[in-house]
Amino acid sequence: MNSSERDPLAVSETLIRHPSVTPADAGALDVLIHYLRPLGFDCHDLTFEDPAGEPTRNLYARFGTEGPNFCWAGHTDVVPPGDLADWASDPYQPEVRDGRLYGRGAADMKCAVACMMTATAEFLSAAGEDFKGSISFLITGDEEGDATNGTKKVLDWLIDRGETIDACVVGEPTNPDTLSDMVKIGRRGSMNVWLDVEGIQGHSAYPHLADNPIHKMLTLLNSLTAVPLDEGSDHFQPSTLQVTTVDVDNAATNVIPARATARVNIRFNDLHSSDSVITLLKGRLDQAGGGYEMRYKVSGESFLTPPGALSKTVVTAIEDVTGKKPELSTTGGTSDARFIKDHCPVVEYGLINQTAHKVNENARVDDIRALSKIYTRILEDYFGSSR
Ligand SMILES: [Zn+2]
Repeated sequence: MNSSERDPLAVSETLIRHPSVTPADAGALDVLIHYLRPLGFDCHDLTFEDPAGEPTRNLYARFGTEGPNFCWAGHTDVVPPGDLADWASDPYQPEVRDGRLYGRGAADMKCAVACMMTATAEFLSAAGEDFKGSISFLITGDEEGDATNGTKKVLDWLIDRGETIDACVVGEPTNPDTLSDMVKIGRRGSMNVWLDVEGIQGHSAYPHLADNPIHKMLTLLNSLTAVPLDEGSDHFQPSTLQVTTVDVDNAATNVIPARATARVNIRFNDLHSSDSVITLLKGRLDQAGGGYEMRYKVSGESFLTPPGALSKTVVTAIEDVTGKKPELSTTGGTSDARFIKDHCPVVEYGLINQTAHKVNENARVDDIRALSKIYTRILEDYFGSSR
């Protein structure tokens, strides 16, 4: 292995050069295969084609055959760049300026995937022939999309093979400002609810001949927002409910519309399941007068990996490298950890999330190098070879 292959910056740049906008792979996973195979990894190139989503390429790679099996998880797909004219440099031509690496996926999360590889190479070369456990990579090309043919399918495939993972770190960008800010030990659940209210269209000067669905909708929505869903729990902030749109499709000033539709986004903590949220909402809506149709779609249930051995390992590694102790948090949106939590303890830790999904996405070069060191320390601590 030459020196640039040990350098997480160089590996990050190689990954960014592949324009892997979901669900396209554009050769991004080949970068991992070419890196991991020579290290002794058994690489499984897995394309799933469930018609409910776009066909997507994924990688499961494993070094070793004995347990425990420590798993790095993440994704090589990225969100579209938006208007290229808004970027100071080509999003797929990595460029270092003022100590930062610019390119689509730098923060979310190609640099973290690069760090997983360089950290693993570093660890394995130090551990030598004596290393008995397993290290695996579960990397999907379908995290930013609908996740139909991604991590969940790989996990099902692992079950079919009778293969288990024992602990997992997902490299999503978890930090608001610095590398020592935040480890995520759980996530809130997320769901969208659609409400439809039927009325009777009519002249606004003769409202007694019509039935205004907007007025009914306002009463219903008020019943949802008037009282908080809860006060929060030991490891979670209070659940939130936000009305994200109300639509009546009415261009006229003198017409009462026939129907109104509203959409509500709910982020719920471990005091609820999606089912209990729906029961709660129905109770409030029925009490407010009813007369609605409801549909909903659950993006993910809430989950928590209670503070324990894995979070301690990660926190210790961060402290060793940065000198500061991070917070254990459950804030933010959902991630593929929601699927992994059914298999083993999982925590999330990666770079700074400030520029994720934005124009001129970037990561500090110093942070990339420090993250690789932290990931190496995680492996050392997990496999008990530290100090
Ligand atoms: Zn991500």
